Amino acid sequence: MAALEATLESGWVAPAGPVPAAFEAALSAATGFGHVLATASGTAALHLGYRCLGVSAGDEVWTSALTFVATVAPAVQMGAVPRFLDVDPASWTLDPDLLERELARAARAGRLPRAVVPVDLFGQPCDLDAIVALCDRWGVPVMCDSAGAVGASRGDGRHAGRGARLAVFSFNGNKIITAGGGGALASDEPELVARARSLSQAAREPGAHYQHETTGHAYGMSSLLAAVGLAQLGALPARVSARRAVFARYRAALGGLPGLSFMPEAPWCRASRWLTAVLLDPTQGAPDRDALRRHLSESGIESRPVWKPLHLQPVFRDAPRGGGAVAADLFERGLCLPSGSGMAPPEQDRVIAAVRALWPAA
Ligand SMILES: *Cc1c(COP(=O)(O)O)cnc(C)c1O
Repeated sequence: MAALEATLESGWVAPAGPVPAAFEAALSAATGFGHVLATASGTAALHLGYRCLGVSAGDEVWTSALTFVATVAPAVQMGAVPRFLDVDPASWTLDPDLLERELARAARAGRLPRAVVPVDLFGQPCDLDAIVALCDRWGVPVMCDSAGAVGASRGDGRHAGRGARLAVFSFNGNKIITAGGGGALASDEPELVARARSLSQAAREPGAHYQHETTGHAYGMSSLLAAVGLAQLGALPARVSARRAVFARYRAALGGLPGLSFMPEAPWCRASRWLTAVLLDPTQGAPDRDALRRHLSESGIESRPVWKPLHLQPVFRDAPRGGGAVAADLFERGLCLPSGSGMAPPEQDRVIAAVRALWPAA
């Protein structure tokens, strides 16, 4: 509240000035990226990233099938063709072995993708080192959609997204920390972020009058939102601990239920556990995903299926794809439980009791 009031009183409220710059510097320090642009949303950052990578009509852009539509929506709006690759059951993120086969096939056909966009799922970093190494072999740039993985790190402590040419973060209201809406595009290459910054400000050329060599966007983050985001960044380590504690508590209370398992934590990372996701196996004694979701809903508890894979979305019915049916299976059987950092133990106990009620014998 104090930061917001001070920003309002300063008169610097537009997407420019000292507060967005301070937010960018703090995010750079928190993630280790050398250069950061604060944007109006994660989706806007993705759009700027696609423009910086030169995506144009007819290009292929590859991503994980198991993600939110915003990962590819801007590329599709630019005329690109998305190709959805299946995920690895050990991490629920893009399967590098599949990517390797698909890249080799595409290289033989002379049709490599313009960009590969792996996704950090529910706060779990993808196997980015393996993905970048594969893409480097063919000179394909990687933009990591780390929108839902602010605060997540890899085994060696590097932040989610580090190692990709571009990474995207989101500060939407549902994320682990929020600016009340907002995002960021990060890179270690100053030219990429400078280009994105120009495009985010209507692509106005330097000079007194309005001069344009291309058209841009109004994608900067307002100073008011940056003030909120800056204050929230200070709480990030505590939020990650709180989300991980929520996850650990669920696992301790529900881990023994027949046919119920948890989203695994990949060996290469420390997930933020933005969302706690469980997998139900009715052949092992669990109710099906929708029976549990409906039962929780009747108890006044919101839960939500894991992302519906994009290759199963009507809008992408004709999109090319690669791999098997892991993502589809995770959607059929996966459910995200209430995972808020502010959830008090008695609230979580209510969820736990409601879940357990569907295992009368346990
Ligand atoms: C939240 C999210 C986005 C979009 O971010 P917004 O700030 O809501 O535009 C993109 N991709 C993933 C994986 C997300 O979780």
